[in-house]
Amino acid sequence: MDILNIIFLGPPGAGKGTQAKKIAEEFDIPQISTGDIFRKNLKEGTELGLKAKAYMDKGLLVPDEIVVAIVEDRLKQPDCKQGFILDGFPRTVVQAEALDKVLEKMKTRITHVINLQVSRDELIDRLTGRRVCKSCGATYHMKYDPPQKSGVCDKCGGLLIQRDDDRVATVEKRLDVYEKQTQPLIEFYKNKGLLRTIDGQQPIENVFADIKGELGSDN
Ligand code: ADP
Ligand code: AMP
Repeated sequence: MDILNIIFLGPPGAGKGTQAKKIAEEFDIPQISTGDIFRKNLKEGTELGLKAKAYMDKGLLVPDEIVVAIVEDRLKQPDCKQGFILDGFPRTVVQAEALDKVLEKMKTRITHVINLQVSRDELIDRLTGRRVCKSCGATYHMKYDPPQKSGVCDKCGGLLIQRDDDRVATVEKRLDVYEKQTQPLIEFYKNKGLLRTIDGQQPIENVFADIKGELGSDN
């Protein structure tokens, strides 16, 4: 099997994290979620976490130079040699161009960009109903992917909470930010011949099957 260096593109709530975890497990490659990295830092009270929180709470993007430096560091870790999944990065054209330069220096490249397409109404429903485990970070949905016991994580027994930025006012802002700053990446990667658009509005297992189909299709 050839190397898989994948980007998951799509608006907040499209299912990037849900699918990235499944693909990471299936192909035994790491999932790199910049949002998770910021949330972990915040939990640990680091300077980076506090800096990022100011932007995240407002539904805004963290400045490019901060995010790019973090991703560059992460990609240099040995576990990324056999492939990786970028989940939630890049989110601006500046980040995408910086990523190209980082990968060029590492003598590698992106092989697939998976673009998950979901309507705005469905995104709002998914984001406001999302619940995450406070301990292990597993993701659920109150209606579409509920835990066996309400409010409790199936995987570790931890408490399920709502992310601060998943409240409805911030959700609207994040979707606007996506449309302005991230959506141009669809054209960016289409022009490079890397874009694979998937109907993200199907059940989780169907989306997963479609993504696997794309990853196996020409590599
Ligand atoms: P993203 O990482 O793109 O922000 P998530 O993977 O966290 O999105 O998914 C957002 C919410 O929608 C979560 O609550 C998740 O359980 C739910 N979800 C993910 N995929 C689907 C799907 N195909 N159908 C219904 N709900 C989904
Ligand atoms: P996510 O978990 O991907 O929904 O990201 C949560 C928040 O983290 C976003 O709303 C941004 O504030 C910040 N963030 C995550 N990834 C990036 C990125 N690539 N560029 C800028 N900000 C980001």
